[in-house]
Amino acid sequence: MKVLFVASEAVPFSKTGGLADVAFALPKALRKEKIDARVMISKTFDLSDTLKSEENHINHFYIDVGWRRQYVGLSELEHEGVPYYFIDNEYYFNRNGLYGHYDDGEKFSYFCRSVLESIRHMDFKPDIIHFNDWHTGMIPALLNEHYRHDEEYRDIKTVYTIHNLKYQGVFGPEILSDLLNMGPQHYHSGGMEFHGGVSFMKSGLNFADAITTVSETYAKEIQYPFFGERLDGLLRHRDSDLYGITNGLDHDIYDPRKDQHVQWKYDSRSLKKKRENKHVLQEQLGLPVRDDVPMMVMVTRLAHMKGLDLIEHVLEEIMEKDIQFVVLGTGEAHYENMMRYYQHRYPDKLRAEIQFNAPLAHQIYAGADLFLMPSLFEPCGLGQQIALRYGTLPIVRETGGLKDTVVPYNKFSDEGNGFSFTNYNAHEMLFTIQDALELYKDRRSWNKVVRRAMKSDTSWKNSALKYIDIYQNVLNR
Ligand code: ADP
Repeated sequence: MKVLFVASEAVPFSKTGGLADVAFALPKALRKEKIDARVMISKTFDLSDTLKSEENHINHFYIDVGWRRQYVGLSELEHEGVPYYFIDNEYYFNRNGLYGHYDDGEKFSYFCRSVLESIRHMDFKPDIIHFNDWHTGMIPALLNEHYRHDEEYRDIKTVYTIHNLKYQGVFGPEILSDLLNMGPQHYHSGGMEFHGGVSFMKSGLNFADAITTVSETYAKEIQYPFFGERLDGLLRHRDSDLYGITNGLDHDIYDPRKDQHVQWKYDSRSLKKKRENKHVLQEQLGLPVRDDVPMMVMVTRLAHMKGLDLIEHVLEEIMEKDIQFVVLGTGEAHYENMMRYYQHRYPDKLRAEIQFNAPLAHQIYAGADLFLMPSLFEPCGLGQQIALRYGTLPIVRETGGLKDTVVPYNKFSDEGNGFSFTNYNAHEMLFTIQDALELYKDRRSWNKVVRRAMKSDTSWKNSALKYIDIYQNVLNR
């Protein structure tokens, strides 16, 4: 089975968010299952000199984008066993940043068209195009409109993954005829029309053979108005083709047994070393070096959706407890200042590291006891999965991927790998933190839960198998 995985970004070439991690890890996992998965992205970066010598120019050609006749360069490179194809165009892609330019509508219209056109110019003929987020959303509409008559394209199936429903790519209606060569017959609510504009996201949702999103719970949540970003009706309509598959974690990058940033490598049988990492971290951060005090941490964007208003509401009460609280993050000024303020008030208890620092993040995951992630919504969430793998028990709100990956500790049945609460309520969160602190006092039970957390399945393998089921399903239709 041949799958062309199309995204606007992929690690290690370009990254602004979780999509890039998935675009790297999922095709790699699919190839392990004998699927010929290849990635196609736009060339928005300069390759390092080493990679440049490996890059292989395949072809170039021109396509029409409105009144412009645009160059498309197509090259290829293998990285960690996965073939990557790059769409090259200096005019659209040689810019600062991936998104947010004045002509995003034109840029991604170009990208969608050049992806489809490239298929004629390469040896790889996909059975499935797996496309992601709004940037690639026009692909199935363009495929149906301009390519289906051609034998090479007739049987291609499409699978669409939503990583973030909030960003939808809505532009003025003129984009249809000006840039996509499509007539006004497509401008209606069952097509691509969306509140007076044309929506890339809606093209994906309406015309893909199957739709997936990045956790089972989020797949259900987005069918309700609260999470649905005005597309819940359409998502309910496509319910039978909508699947939730939780993202995995790249175990080469996140592994406490061989993490280069962590001083004392450890696994579930050497938790003493995890405690050594805690001491190192306490020292490094200027906190009292104590084993008996639980260390709770957050590694996060300081954004409203991450539940920071809940923390603001009860931080005073949290600080009354015998606890150390470390926050690594950047984001909204209000929350950055709030954390700085509390650090000033509680210098022996709270550290606010207002920076983006990947090595420090690894050290925090390795050294801490509890990982707090009380999100308002969370399509999948990576932080809690890293925490599990490093034996740092997550405290999460039961939403999206948080609900699917964290099983709350139950002292009666002795189950669970973390702690969770249901309602978006600051005191519910506080009481859950209290429960966790209680358990921390019972070292034997605590360690048992930590070991269980470290064994939680966070790998890509199961998720890859679920995607393969969906591919097979659409191919059999
Ligand atoms: P989101 O994609 O919504 O920001 P996730 O939990 O899915 O949230 O992913 C966030 C990722 O970014 C995690 O790997 C987390 O460790 C990392 N991260 C967030 N903030 C920082 C920071 N300040 N420094 C280092 N890593 C960070």
